[in-house]
Formats: sequence, structure tokens, C-alpha cells
Amino acid sequence: MNIHEYQAKEILRRFGIPVAPGDVARTAVEAEGIAARYGGAVVVKAQVHAGGRGKAGGVTLARTPAEARAAAERILGMTIKGLPVGAVLVARAADIASEAYVGIIVDRASKRAVVMVSPAGGIDIEEVAATTPDRIRRLPVDPRYGFLPFEALQLGTFLYRDAGQARAAARILRQLYDAFLDSGASLAEINPLVTTPAGELLAVDAKMVIDDNELERRPAVAALRDASAEAPSEVAAREANLTFIRLEGNVGCVVNGAGLAMATMDLVKYYGGEPANFLDIGGSSNPDKVIAAIRIISSDPKVRVILFNIFGGITRTDDVANGIVTAVRHAPLRVPLVIRLTGTNEEAAVRILENAGLSAMTDMDAAVQRAVALVAPAGSAR
Ligand code: GDP
Ligand code: MN
Repeated sequence: MNIHEYQAKEILRRFGIPVAPGDVARTAVEAEGIAARYGGAVVVKAQVHAGGRGKAGGVTLARTPAEARAAAERILGMTIKGLPVGAVLVARAADIASEAYVGIIVDRASKRAVVMVSPAGGIDIEEVAATTPDRIRRLPVDPRYGFLPFEALQLGTFLYRDAGQARAAARILRQLYDAFLDSGASLAEINPLVTTPAGELLAVDAKMVIDDNELERRPAVAALRDASAEAPSEVAAREANLTFIRLEGNVGCVVNGAGLAMATMDLVKYYGGEPANFLDIGGSSNPDKVIAAIRIISSDPKVRVILFNIFGGITRTDDVANGIVTAVRHAPLRVPLVIRLTGTNEEAAVRILENAGLSAMTDMDAAVQRAVALVAPAGSAR
């Protein structure tokens, strides 16, 4: 789950990290009021679940309340990376002497939280990693001992020559680590962490991503969800209890079980196709889930074929077939459907589909090849 910058900053503040003061506005008039209250210059910042807002024009410096109002007016009408801006953060503008990057991610390879720092902040850390990898320091944290003070100080010293600033950075890193663990985050970053001309450290931006599996035991964190800022397909999938992740390709996939979903995506890629999504309808065979899955996938204009891959164990394939038939009756599909199902009640499923003018295959390999062939230009099949 993504949370907004202003929410991440509230968390960091609670853990003692120095953060530029700010407030959220949903209208330009509110933004003007906040700027008037702060007095001096402010930054008006789009609150969307996307990075690179600065480059997209979603971060604007305003010297007066009237400028803040005009900036908010413009930014509140923007769409950044497909996401409409519903709110802006109006923060007291910081004077910036230098910009660093500090962040913590869950690293699946080392199975640890990895703290990353770079004195080259402000820009994408991926870009720094690609062009000047020696400007990044990474530290995997051993969960048996936690993030130790001397480790934090080593990273602080990599960031700043000044001993006081290095110590301040070390303190911030350990506070960030505590916030990361406490929130069940998979990512927590401050980019940029700035120094002011007076030598103080200050978090000017903050981003946190919360691991969905950590939400159930953290109702206060779960309450930070802003469904209005999420992609409608992802909201619909969550409401239907489907595990759904949108991808870039055009082969829509409906599969039962995460392992089979991964294998299906691998096979789509193997035959030269690109999956449009990961979608796991789960182990039960509620036809409503199938209907919701088809609706969600069909709403993606990129999708050119829908591939069902159902292995019936606990899942009854006749229930899935009924779901498909109901969904197609309700709203005829604008793309071809390739259905592979095998296992529990397979004969009944095939009968149900055939009675509705649909057909099913039992071989996964053949079904994936057919789906990929349907989206590939003629003659380009592998
Ligand atoms: P992002 O582009 O979505 O990462 O948004 P940021 O909050 O990181 O803002 C982008 C850039 O705007 C930063 O790297 C800063 O250079 C600049 N910026 C943001 N806040 C301030 C501020 O308070 N004062 C000044 N002078 N620049 C700021
Ligand atoms: Mn940033």
C-alpha cells in the first residue's frame, strides 16, 4: 500500500526525524490560508502515489499566499503518471545547501532490510546506481542485532564530512529504521534529505510503501489508505478479494493460485507475449470472483486477449465456467477469450462452456501459445 508524502512525514516526525512543517489542502483557498499562516515562502506539492513529481511540474515554490493559491489551483488540476491530484501539501520552504538520499528497502536477495545512502540526492536513486554506483553505500541489517549505532555512523560519515552532520544523519537513519519496522514498511525513503545553509538536516520529501501483509495487525497504518488515489482496477480487485497487480503487456491473465499465476506469466513471456497483469482468484470457486476478474481485466484498454488458466483442486472448474458464462452474458467481451481448465468437475465445466458457445482447452502450453498468437502480428510467432 502506498501512502502520501504528508502521511509518511507525519510518521517520520513521530519518530523524531526533523521534517519541514506543512499541512494538506484540498482546495486552492485552503492552500492560500496555510501559506498565510506560515508567513514566508512555501512549496506546494502534489500528493499522488508517484515519484518524480518535481520533474512533472507537481512541486512549486511560492513566495506569497497568492502565489501558493495559484500554484495549488494549477497542481490540483493535474494528472501525474495517470493519477489525478486530489490534494497538495503546503510546506514551509527550506533553504537548501545540499541534497542527499537515504532509504531502507526490503531486499529479497539478502532477506534483510537494506539501508541505502547517497550524497547524490534529489534525483532518482536508480539513476545514481546506474551511472555512479560508487556514490551509493548499502548496508544489510542483521535482524538478530538490529541496526547498530556504529553502522549508522559509518553511513553518516559517508554522507557528510562534518562530524556533527554525520552524527545527525546517523540518528536520522536509525529513526528511519524504527519507523520502517514499526509501520510494516517495505520501503521508506527521504529524497532529498537536505542540509540548510545553517548546517541543519531536514527531510524535504518522504516516501513509504507499506507491505499489505502487515496491515491487518496495524489498523492505524491501514487507515492511511486513500482509495481515491489508487488505480480504480486495483481498488475493485481488493474489494473482490482478488490478488491483482497491473503490468504493461496485453495478455490478460486469470489464474487460480499464486504459483500457477507466476508459471502462467513465465509461459506467456516464453512464447513471446507480455502479461497485462498478475491475477489470482484464489482457492475458492465463487463465480462472483470470476465475474469481477473479467470486469477488471476488460477495463484495461491495453488488453487484447483474456487467458484463463484454472487448475481445479479445491477450486471447482464448473463454478469457474459458470462465472465466465455469466460475465460474458452480462457484458459481451471486446477481446477473444482463451480458456484452459483441468481438474475437479472438468467434464461439467466443458459442457457449461460449450452450451454457451465457448470452448476450453486442457493443455496449459497449448492455451498460452494460442493466447500469445492472438495478440502477435501474423508471422511473428516464435
Ligand atoms: P519528487 O520530485 O516527487 O521527488 O518531489 P520532492 O519533494 O523531492 O521535490 C523535488 C525537488 O524540489 C527537490 O529535490 C528539491 O530540489 C525541490 N524542493 C522540494 N522542496 C523544496 C523546498 O522546501 N525548498 C527548495 N528550495 N526546494 C525544494
Ligand atoms: Mn523526492
